[in-house]
Amino acid sequence: MSTQSIVRPNPVQKAFDRFYAGSRGGTVTVNVSHGKGIFVWDTNGKRYLDGSSGAVCTNLGHGNERVRDAMIDQANRISYAPFSTSESTDTLSKMISDLAGPGFDQTFLVSGGSEAVESAIKLARQYAIASGQPKRRKILARMPGYHGATLGAAAATGDPDRDEIFGPIMQIVPKVAAPLSYRLPEGFDVSSYADYCADALEHQILAEGEETVLAFIMEPVGGVATGALVAPDNYYSKVREICDRFGVLLIFDEVMCGAGRTGTFLATHHWPNALPDLVVCAKGLSAGYTPLGAMIAPNRIVDKVAESGGFLHGHTYAGNPLSSAIGVAVLKEMLDHDLMGNAERMGVVLRRKLNALKDRSFTIGDVRGMGLLNAVEIVEDQATKAIFPAAKQASYRVREIARELGLHLYARRTASGKFGEWFMAAPPLIITEPEIDLFMELLTETFQVFESENR
Ligand code: PLP
Repeated sequence: MSTQSIVRPNPVQKAFDRFYAGSRGGTVTVNVSHGKGIFVWDTNGKRYLDGSSGAVCTNLGHGNERVRDAMIDQANRISYAPFSTSESTDTLSKMISDLAGPGFDQTFLVSGGSEAVESAIKLARQYAIASGQPKRRKILARMPGYHGATLGAAAATGDPDRDEIFGPIMQIVPKVAAPLSYRLPEGFDVSSYADYCADALEHQILAEGEETVLAFIMEPVGGVATGALVAPDNYYSKVREICDRFGVLLIFDEVMCGAGRTGTFLATHHWPNALPDLVVCAKGLSAGYTPLGAMIAPNRIVDKVAESGGFLHGHTYAGNPLSSAIGVAVLKEMLDHDLMGNAERMGVVLRRKLNALKDRSFTIGDVRGMGLLNAVEIVEDQATKAIFPAAKQASYRVREIARELGLHLYARRTASGKFGEWFMAAPPLIITEPEIDLFMELLTETFQVFESENR
């Protein structure tokens, strides 16, 4: 029998369009061709400003030549080296630990955010057993929140839509309210609500049985689930104190907010009195040039697990030399060009301009964030903060208009709009002030069209 009679051409031509078709917020409609700096071009030659850094990844923008050269150089030497270590992997692990600072001694490299979250949860569990606390098994997390798509990370994700579908095949973890800052329950201000949410963590620990709680995982600066939520300072110190008091490990998910995006290498560096026990990072770590994630842990945890027989966890691509070389080049580029400083400075400029747009708009309810991790919340009524009816899919319509005008935005109706809807204003960390002006021109035009449809 000839091969031709067995292998039939697959009628589906495009890689992802059928998977992301529908109303869940994916939709792939751009055939991308190439990118340079903060811009991406499609195959028709149309240019798009990368206003959300893809999925909040492309910290260096596109087409960085130093990263490309590092990629080629490493590929010329070796790309894959399991059961061994390599110079690039050692260098990247050390760079990340050094940038993370004291107490973050060891870095475990994986292929993305979800893998990093799974790694942290498993390391925490092994540490509990190794230190004579085998009853500690429960993870607590926040609602809303996002920790990834794999089942362990999804179980910690605070999203009722996902729970409804995948709940029966995973062990959903208990959630406590995230200290949302825009729609506050009656009788609270931002600070008192954050206190209330931290107290909720304590109550949940006691309700679960304090000796059974292993870890609390949260995003120190929110991503798409909360729309760049930043809590008041009192929240972080209170959460740290509660975790300490009950022997619960604190895990910060910095997959989106880490690697320089908020103006410091880790977002936790903004709250040095509330450092977590474990941190996970991804996205900006490789700036989208390769799949890469990291779990960062202190010696006291890693050593204990090592002494008990070693970490019972791994991935085929963990510590991959090629991804590591790319990560090293990305971090060097970020340090050499002070991109963390730029994220902080440009973040201030961007928020000022977004707030000015909000003042002229009747459908922008809130602008929030830190550094170049920001969200713009869309509402039907600024006074009541009411969201648009579901049928409008308002944030996705804004994204669609923006795309037609040449601006890429990452939008989200969290939990079918239960917590609001927004898009991320999170351009690459290389952005300049004139480029922010261009971003704002495109966004202003986007809202002119969107508001003319909703008058
Ligand atoms: N955690 C957070 C806070 C994220 O924003 C994401 C992805 O957006 C993840 C985890 C999962 O990362 P990945 O998609 O690389 O698996």
